[in-house]
Amino acid sequence: MTLRVYNTLARKKEEFIPRDSGKVGMYVCGPTVYNYIHIGNARCYVAFDAIVRYLELCGYHVTYVRNLTDIDDKIIKRAQEEKTTSKEIADKYIKAFHEDMEAMGCRKPDIEPKATETISEMQKIVGGLVDKGFAYEVDGDVFFEINKFEDYGKLSRRTLDEMRAGERIDVDSRKHHPMDFALWKGAKPGEPSWTSPWGEGRPGWHIECSAMSLSYLKMSFDIHAGGQDLIFPHHENEIAQSEAYTGTKPFVKYWLHNGFVTIKEEKMAKSVGNVTLVREIGKWDQYAKRPVDLQNHLRMFFLSTHYRSPIDFSRKHLEEAGRKVRGLEDLIWRLDEILKKDIFNQSEEISEDEKIFGDKIDEAQKKFQQAMDDDFNTPSAIGTLFELERNTNIFIDKHPDKFSFSGKSLLEKTKGMLVKLSEDVLGFVLYGKTSSSMGIISGHEESELKRELSANEIEELVEKREEARKNKDYKAADEIRTKLAEKGVVLEDTPHGVRWKWK
Ligand SMILES: [Zn+2]
Repeated sequence: MTLRVYNTLARKKEEFIPRDSGKVGMYVCGPTVYNYIHIGNARCYVAFDAIVRYLELCGYHVTYVRNLTDIDDKIIKRAQEEKTTSKEIADKYIKAFHEDMEAMGCRKPDIEPKATETISEMQKIVGGLVDKGFAYEVDGDVFFEINKFEDYGKLSRRTLDEMRAGERIDVDSRKHHPMDFALWKGAKPGEPSWTSPWGEGRPGWHIECSAMSLSYLKMSFDIHAGGQDLIFPHHENEIAQSEAYTGTKPFVKYWLHNGFVTIKEEKMAKSVGNVTLVREIGKWDQYAKRPVDLQNHLRMFFLSTHYRSPIDFSRKHLEEAGRKVRGLEDLIWRLDEILKKDIFNQSEEISEDEKIFGDKIDEAQKKFQQAMDDDFNTPSAIGTLFELERNTNIFIDKHPDKFSFSGKSLLEKTKGMLVKLSEDVLGFVLYGKTSSSMGIISGHEESELKRELSANEIEELVEKREEARKNKDYKAADEIRTKLAEKGVVLEDTPHGVRWKWK
């Protein structure tokens, strides 16, 4: 199977062939850190997180770069409003951004450059563009001259008339063309600034991403991603700057853009005023009690729709996503229950049922991969997991207490596959570790980080409770059970000892 991705530049799916065999360089436009991120922003980071994870599953060595825009008009404005510095504002929201990313189980990028730490690279590119005649300086501002770059508009496929449609009347008369954009902005009093050949000033937004991506990934890197709203002008301008400066093309091989999140079919945006913040949802009762559900439910909500399609956010849709995850969690729990039972007969024969079930497992794995290879079709990939869930439950129901060795190995295979695809690729946390006293090792230490109690802490409490019960101190034993219940841990007394699971 070959991986095909929808390239915005070509407006079609293309076979994915990386610049350097076996390696992928990927750049995702990160946040402008002047506020908390909302669900619309979050979708982009979750969607591309799943893509990075899948590329790694395919065996690619991925260099994932996601920047932080920590100097920008909006940050300066916010700092003025709050009577503080741009740096204070940026630091505050960078910290919050990282917390939100962790809450959603998004892996850290390999490189996370800050715009303010890449200023000299930006100045080098701006200087180069002036020298080559693609840019001009007026009173300390430097503008890119779009008429000098003949490919301008190739990503957004807009004509100059269309680009000007949203233009305001007060066009800067110093510009050669109304669509020329600022590469460097002369400093206004009180603003953060850097010394440059054009006087004190700061970079424009677009040049930041050209400088940061080229610094770490070089020309013609593989994937540049972001929200659809960045196609024009941000990504269009990045192409113009980068290709004009280096004199080569393409700047990027594959451009990937995610669809909008809407609320009652209206785009979620700060400017519309209909935003729901990730951390607001995290405070909802259920998620405050069990933060791992926030990760699972949000990811299931986002990934149940193809990343390029629009998606409508509501509490109801999030609950539906939660029910879907619960089905997978329950199946893992059920598999563990069955696998720990000593009920397997010694027969070496493979029954017809087992043969059919075995084929279904292999088919599920293949279909999952086919779906992801088709422009990262996560809804279809998730569908194959549900199909496997159904088939596994049917197989178990048919053999409620009697499995052959081959039947057992099929269930182990199913469990391993479910955990790998759900956790490693889609980023769910399905696995509450089973009690070590039961002799079952989950090996998913990472899952425990999201919960309030670690598995070790829980197991210590479970042991203490066992001690208390042995000593007939039932009051103390009950107190421990209640304490665990408050943290979302359910205990179950079985003939083989005590098991625990997340509620
Ligand atoms: Zn960007």
